[in-house]
Amino acid sequence: MVNQSQKIGGQPSKNPSAAKPFERRSFIKMGALSALFAGGLGAALEPLRHFENDADLEAFVQQQYERLTPEKMDAILRRIEKEMKEQYGVEASVSDPKPLPGVQYAYALNIGRCIGCRRCVHACVGENNSSRNPEIQYIRVLEMPNGTLDVEKSDHYYQPETVPAEGKYYMPVQCHQCDNPPCVKACPVRATWKEQDGVVVVDYNWCIGCRYCEAACPYWARRFNFTKPSIPKEEINTEMAYLGNRIRPKGTMEKCTFCLGRVRKGLNPKCMEACPTGARQFGNMLDSDSTIRHILREKRVYIFKEEAGTLPRFYYWFDK
Ligand code: SF4
Ligand code: SF4
Repeated sequence: MVNQSQKIGGQPSKNPSAAKPFERRSFIKMGALSALFAGGLGAALEPLRHFENDADLEAFVQQQYERLTPEKMDAILRRIEKEMKEQYGVEASVSDPKPLPGVQYAYALNIGRCIGCRRCVHACVGENNSSRNPEIQYIRVLEMPNGTLDVEKSDHYYQPETVPAEGKYYMPVQCHQCDNPPCVKACPVRATWKEQDGVVVVDYNWCIGCRYCEAACPYWARRFNFTKPSIPKEEINTEMAYLGNRIRPKGTMEKCTFCLGRVRKGLNPKCMEACPTGARQFGNMLDSDSTIRHILREKRVYIFKEEAGTLPRFYYWFDK
C-alpha cells in the first residue's frame, strides 16, 4: 500500500518538501523569459558552475535532441546506460525508438467500464520507472458522483474498501497528447515537443525544470522530480527509451508518453494491458479497421475540457 502523503501526480503530493524550489534551476524563476533571452546569459549559464565533470557538462549542453547525428545519439544512449549502472546498479538497455510511418496514436477510455481499481496507475509506475518515494503517478483516477460530469465534484483521493463504490463512477486522467499542446508553447527552451505519431515528449537532458509546462497543462498531466527518483533496484525496468521511461534526473519534468518504448514496437501501453475490465483502448487512428477507429466512429465520444482548444488524442466514451 502506498502512503498517500508520498505521492506526486495521480494523487498530488502533500509532501512539504515538494514546495521547495529547485536550486540548480532557480535562475529561470528570477526573471523567467527575460532573464533567459534578454541579457540573462550569465543567469542562463548558472547551472554550468555546478557540473563536476565533462560528462555532466556534455549532458547539459548537448545540442537540441532532434538535431543530433546518429553517432552522437548513440554515444548519449551508451552514456545513460553507464549512468544507470553507476547510480542504480542495473544493466539497462537504452534505445531511441522513432515514430512509425503511417501511424497516429489515439486512446479511448470507456467510462462506463472503469471500476476505479487503479491497476492502470500502478502498472504505469512500474513500466515507466517512476520514483517510488515519493511516488510519482502519471494517471489520476477521479471518483465522481453518478449523474454529474462536473470534475469539481470529483474526489482525487478516494480510498473506499472496495471499488466501485455505491453511487460513484470513475474517470482516469493522464496526458492527452494534445495536437495543440499548451505545454509545448509554454516551454522557454523547446525541451518538449510533439512527435510525428502524436506523442508529446520531453528531453529530460534539455529540460531546465522551470515548470511552465506543468502550469500550462489543463489536464494535470505533468510531474516534476523534486528529488532524484528512488526505485528499488529489483523493480527497475531495464528496457528504457530515451524519450520515454529512462529514469529521469532530479529537477526535470516528466509525463505519460503512451508508453512510446512499447507502442513503437507494436505493443499496447502498459495501462491498457493492466486494466481488468477492458475500459482502455489504444491504436492507430489511420487504420480504418482498428478498434480505436471503430470507437471514434460508432460510439458516444467526449473530449474533456474541449473548450481549452487543446485537441486531445485521448477520448472518453460510453457504450450505447
Ligand atoms: S495533456 Fe498537458 S502535458 Fe499532455 S500534451 Fe496536453 S497540455 Fe501537454
Ligand atoms: S485499470 Fe481499468 S478499471 Fe482499473 S482504474 Fe484503470 S481504467 Fe479503471
